Amino acid sequence: MAVPQNKVTKSRRNKRRAHHALEGANPNECSNCGELKRPHHVCPSCGHYDDREVVAMVDEIDLDEEDAA
Ligand SMILES: [Zn+2]
Repeated sequence: MAVPQNKVTKSRRNKRRAHHALEGANPNECSNCGELKRPHHVCPSCGHYDDREVVAMVDEIDLDEEDAA
């Protein structure tokens, strides 16, 4: 098994990890409803993509419905 020849110091390790921070998302405005949405994704609030509706939206979903089979 390969073994590191030299100890990586805390300083060197931490300097390497200085570039590992996550970048924030870069949301676009939906061209239909103006809500912020992820680029190249269907709008989660209106279901539109590229000015046409591709996912039908339900007005309200009742999760507490007792007789839901
Ligand atoms: Zn939208």
